[in-house]
Amino acid sequence: MESKITEVYPKAPGDARTADCEQVSHMLDLMIDGEASPEEQKFFNHHIEDCVSCFENHQKQKLLKGLITGHLKRVIVPHSLVQSIKARIQETL
Ligand SMILES: [Zn+2]
Repeated sequence: MESKITEVYPKAPGDARTADCEQVSHMLDLMIDGEASPEEQKFFNHHIEDCVSCFENHQKQKLLKGLITGHLKRVIVPHSLVQSIKARIQETL
């Protein structure tokens, strides 16, 4: 008995794309939050290797999420802490 891992999603240029693209777009949030199952991640990664529009979508979403969390972090940091860090940097210079 041979259990060889074959391509579950064969490369099919053309109409096969749209259904996969739709599925991938629904998975974007799960992927970025790290909540997708291993199977979903495999499918997702396999798809964006081939599909530029989904790849770009994923990049944009990640960037957007990064900007939001980056912004939140900046808001949470107290002003006094920023001042003391700045002061410490100037001391070492
Ligand atoms: Zn796609």
